[in-house]
Parts: sequence; structure tokens; C-alpha cells
Amino acid sequence: MAPDTLARTAPNVYDAEPIPEAARAEIDRLLASGDLFRYTAPEGAPVARLEQEFADLLGVRYALAVSSCSAALFLALKALDLPAGARVLIPAFTFAAVPSAVLHANCVPVLCEVGADLRIDIRDFAARLDDGIAAVLISHMRGHTSDMDRIMALCEARGIPVIEDAAHSLGTLWNGRNIGTIGKVGCFSFQSYKLVNAGEGGILVTDDPEIAARSVIMSGAYEHNWKKHAGLQNSYMHWQNRLPLYNMRMQNLSAAVIRPQLPLVGGRVAAGRANHDHVAERLNRSDWIEVPPALPQEERAPDSLQFRLLGTWSDAEARAFQDAAKVRGVAVQIFGLSEDNARAFWNWKFLGDLPDLPMTRAMLMRTCDLRLPARLTRPDLDFIADAILAAVGAVKAARTDAA
Ligand SMILES: *Cc1c(COP(=O)(O)O)cnc(C)c1O
Repeated sequence: MAPDTLARTAPNVYDAEPIPEAARAEIDRLLASGDLFRYTAPEGAPVARLEQEFADLLGVRYALAVSSCSAALFLALKALDLPAGARVLIPAFTFAAVPSAVLHANCVPVLCEVGADLRIDIRDFAARLDDGIAAVLISHMRGHTSDMDRIMALCEARGIPVIEDAAHSLGTLWNGRNIGTIGKVGCFSFQSYKLVNAGEGGILVTDDPEIAARSVIMSGAYEHNWKKHAGLQNSYMHWQNRLPLYNMRMQNLSAAVIRPQLPLVGGRVAAGRANHDHVAERLNRSDWIEVPPALPQEERAPDSLQFRLLGTWSDAEARAFQDAAKVRGVAVQIFGLSEDNARAFWNWKFLGDLPDLPMTRAMLMRTCDLRLPARLTRPDLDFIADAILAAVGAVKAARTDAA
């Protein structure tokens, strides 16, 4: 088939997960009653039920549903009660909303290097940790888990609190534990392109009653609305009227969309992992491609696939590869070669002077990003793998320099 014919039969990887039919009755009920505000019902509001179900799903004491993962990250930083100007260490490979949340919390983001395996470079992380860092925010970018054993050991030895940005890591396990429950606070996203789709939304989890109480109040539990969050009476009494109200609450319609998706998380994780591993296995047969393997402690929950162009590629060849994949119907984005990409740290000009981070820059210039939703079929996956391998073949002959 000619490339333009192939493009027309390409699988749709853009659409988000559909909302289960079961959500409709509850949405109709809420629309009919107008009961959209989480604190109107005396008990059992959809948002409160979601918080309990999510806490049970992850095995944590407290969950707080909010308007986005970025709001959750902001509240987590505020709940740590850091002084203004506190230095917060974050990976240089993340989404622009992450350094933005640090700025929003009146703190200073400090970037550390990320290696070719898309994970925090532990040597650089350890070196920067002793440079006046007050808190660490680990972004498990695209669901790639940084080495939490070494990160927690380094931070615990110094008494530095760790927040996990698990926006894209729902269902990922580390030594059998849920990602997002290893640091002091974990934050997840329900934005459409995450495993659970509510358009927008986020949730914060913690086992720490003081952090839970502080973040609940600051999220907008004004007056005595905190009484509708169970189990924290003493902490709330202490913080009443002593914290600002940022009003980042979730509303009931969002919870109605999210709750019927929670029982589907396990299935989406298993399907996403099988899809990812099938395409990864095919791509890894090429001399020119490497899909970063999982770390030994990690059980992944991918809904996208990242791979590295191996060997020597000029920028022109890398761009030609992107174009060749596109005419075959598969849009592959090289993070550092797409203009204004919000995941390329040099575009975060709102931070002011940006450090030179050669390791992260080199990774971004040759790492390809591809959505791979759980709903894809085996023929869809093979179409995608065929297109990528053919695109590599169109730019590069078989490698002769490979050892
Ligand atoms: C999506 C995402 C965010 C932002 O989540 P929102 O809910 O859109 O605020 C932050 N970090 C990572 C790693 C993400 O993937």
C-alpha cells in the first residue's frame, strides 16, 4: 500500500478512555437535584465516596480529591509548611506544570539530571541534595519510576520530605507497593490523557494526619466542612482559621465520572502493560531503537511508549524519521525536536535563568514519545510497530557499527 493509504487505516491513539455507561445514572441524578457541590450533602457525597474508594484502592489512610494533579502538588508543598523561597529538587524531565506548582507554592525549583533511561540520575540527585534542598518532588514521568530505594534512603538520611508526582503512574508497583504511597505525599491526575479520565481532576494521598488536615483545609474546606472528612478531629481543631483557603475542590460530577472507572484500573493496567511489552519487544529487534526496560523493582502500568534512537543520528535524520513515521500513520514525537514542547526544560523560560543539563538535553533530543492506550488491539499494535520499523528503515540502513 502507498503511505497515504496506510495513514488512513492507522489506529486512533488520541482518543481518551470512554466513560463507563454506569456513570450516566449518577450524573442524571446529580443534574436533576443540582447537588454538585461536594459539601452540600450531610454525608456520602460522590467526592467523599471517591476519596474513600481511592484510599482503599491504594491502601492509604487519607485521600483528598481536588481540581487537578497540579493543584494536589501545590497543596502537598503548602502542607509541608516550607518557608518562602525553599529549594525543591525536581527532575529536569517532567511536565511544565510541575516546576509551575513549585513556583505557585512560593518555592524555588532546582532541576536535577535525568539519564537516557528516563529516570533521575542518582549521582546528580545526591550531589544537589546537599545544596540547601528543603523538599524533593519526584515526577515519575510517563510512568517511568526513578529508583525510589536510593532516593528514599538519601532523603531519609537527611530528613528531607519526598512528594511523589504519580500523575501518570496509577497502578505502577515498586517492590510490590503502589507508586504514590512511598513518599510522604502522592499526587495523581484524572486529566483525560491519564489512566482514569475525568477531563480534569486530581487526588492527593498520605498517611500523615497533619498533612491531610492542612491540605483538606487549604483545598477549600472552609468553616466546619472539614468535619465531612473522617478521622482527623484533633488536627483540624488545631488548624481551623489558621490556613488560607485556595479553593481547589473537586465537584460531584467529576467524582461521578471517576468512580465507575476505579474498578477498571486493574484491567487497563494489565492491557496497557501487555500492549507496551508487545510493541517494545518488536522495536527492540531493531539495531537503531531501544525501549528502556523496567527497573527490577518496578511493575509498570504504561499507557504510552518511549524509545530511544540508538547509535549516531543527526537532528536532520531524527526529524526525517519522525516524518517517515507520520506518513505511515503513526505520530511519534521526539521531545526535544518539537517546538515549544512543555516537557523540554529549556522551554520553561518562566523559571528565569535555566541551568545547562547536558545529560537530560541529550536524552530529550533522541527520545521518542508515542501514546499507546489500553484499548488498542493486537493488529493496531503491529501496525504501529511496522510503521516505526519501516520509518527507521527509510532513514537508516542496517547498522554495521553495532557491536
Ligand atoms: C499530567 C501530568 C501532570 C499534571 O496533571 P494535571 O492533572 O493536568 O494537573 C503532572 N505531572 C505529570 C508527570 C503528568 O503526566
